[in-house]
Amino acid sequence: MIILLGPPGSGKGTQAELLAEKLNLYYLETSRIIDANLKNIKKDDFIIVKGKKYFLIEEKKMRERGKLMSPPLIVFWIKNKIKELAKVGKGLSIAGSPRTLYEGKEVTPFLKKLYKASNIKIILITLSPEQSIWRGTRRRICKLMRHPILYTQETAKLRKCPLDGSRLIIRKDDTREVIKVRLKEYQERTLPLIDYFKKHGLQIKEVNGEQSVEAVFQDILKALK
Ligand SMILES: [Zn+2]
Repeated sequence: MIILLGPPGSGKGTQAELLAEKLNLYYLETSRIIDANLKNIKKDDFIIVKGKKYFLIEEKKMRERGKLMSPPLIVFWIKNKIKELAKVGKGLSIAGSPRTLYEGKEVTPFLKKLYKASNIKIILITLSPEQSIWRGTRRRICKLMRHPILYTQETAKLRKCPLDGSRLIIRKDDTREVIKVRLKEYQERTLPLIDYFKKHGLQIKEVNGEQSVEAVFQDILKALK
């Protein structure tokens, strides 16, 4: 199984999807799991995890401001999904999780048990903060399925989704301010995971994200060998 880490705009979702296709893995997209769980929520909806109540409207607001949602809630959703997939015996390609040290500590032992440490490969896609913000403000999604379209030379002129033909739009929470908050969250809360993974004997390889999608993909395939 493969875990892809990287700042906003590094294209980790796109790469996770490509890897899933190439290596016949299940693409576990954290943001899609969150979207599904936050869809059609009502004012007082909550979920109890380990005795604590999490109000979904509050969580949604945090996310819209670029903040990370409560880690115990995310862990609860992700673990359920992984359990479901492990039953089917499928390998995973994960983007966007774990995203905090808390999540890493909860999910890593669980993954080790299911897949064994030697089968867990972590790829860190690097990107400068300037590039992260620049790409973030230009990212689009399609109207129908919310497929993310990474901003690159190849996609700059696209007006319709290559997969379903629906119109491409800018997400309303992809403003410069929100992207800056997301980047700060990544630096302060996601990057400390690297040391945690190293300490726990997991292999991490770095790949330069400031290249075309295809070149990054080829580098990842090399790193996985
Ligand atoms: Zn689409």
